[in-house]
Amino acid sequence: MAASNGEKSLIVSFGEMLIDFVPTVSGVSLADAPGFIKAPGGAPANVAIAISRLGGRAAFVGKLGDDEFGHMLAGILKQNGVSAEGINFDTGARTALAFVTLKSDGEREFMFYRNPSADMLLRPDELNLDLIRSAKVFHYGSISLIVEPCRSAHLKAMEVAKEAGALLSYDPNLRLPLWPSKEEAQKQILSIWDKAEVIKVSDEELMFLTGSDKVDDETALSLWHSNLKLLLVTLGDKGCRYYTKSFRGSVDPFHVNAVDTTGAGDSYVGALLCKIVDDRAVLEDEARLREVLRYANACGAITTTKKGAIPALPTESEVQSLLKGN
Ligand code: ADP
Repeated sequence: MAASNGEKSLIVSFGEMLIDFVPTVSGVSLADAPGFIKAPGGAPANVAIAISRLGGRAAFVGKLGDDEFGHMLAGILKQNGVSAEGINFDTGARTALAFVTLKSDGEREFMFYRNPSADMLLRPDELNLDLIRSAKVFHYGSISLIVEPCRSAHLKAMEVAKEAGALLSYDPNLRLPLWPSKEEAQKQILSIWDKAEVIKVSDEELMFLTGSDKVDDETALSLWHSNLKLLLVTLGDKGCRYYTKSFRGSVDPFHVNAVDTTGAGDSYVGALLCKIVDDRAVLEDEARLREVLRYANACGAITTTKKGAIPALPTESEVQSLLKGN
């Protein structure tokens, strides 16, 4: 239900926000990069901003360092209209940093500064439970499951949101280099699998989680569970596939001039959540769901047309122009 004053219902996105440092020139290794520029990111934070930019109401819950970068990130959320009431600041640990580059051979190289970083230190007793209880959708990833105490904070927030009636939305956003091993990543990502009612995976995550080398219906449906209302598999420039209890299908992509795909999935998820937060019946109506996924595909596509994630997240009018032109 939307609030009675016509305001949109709240979507709370839980997890990490950090700064990616990306080389000023493309196609170099981290060692050869002459310099780096700051690109704010972290999938759950991107999702919150995506929602707000599309006119939805979003809050971010997580922990930042009580340092220049942490306050800069909180400022970015606020400037983008995202509620910062659920943010904690850690005086003992820094805001997470990730140096990341795409080398000329197409290999991605990562170097993380999380030893530990503030986001990993969020404790269950620090959670703003009133904020979490007021969410109509509670969205999260899997990076917050990697270490304690953040893992327990994640599980508690999820439980409190669920008890208060929120729809749980999960995008694992696999970042293998952050996990102790592949086996641990798979096990922990799947450990909360049957809680979520909406799950989005990419084609690569589908293969990783199932151990299959195919991206087909059988593989996707092996991830189905009885609490699930919607399973989505995003396919980059090939669009997406959807699965519900009663129907399944695919939605074509928009053809755009992609320059940087960072944040496409977050934009897609933000768009989807915006459309279902006050209208869960969409999940049971294939024709309307396809319209929503077309909208989400448009948001994902637009996000690839500019460098970086947050600067590229679309406004409603940008999405409408792409939809009208196609
Ligand atoms: P993730 O970022 O999670 O890996 P994807 O790359 O699959 O997610 O992107 C999410 C959605 O964004 C896709 O389903 C698609 O609709 C859109 N998208 C992504 N890359 C492109 C692209 N190169 N061209 C057009 N649309 C794209």
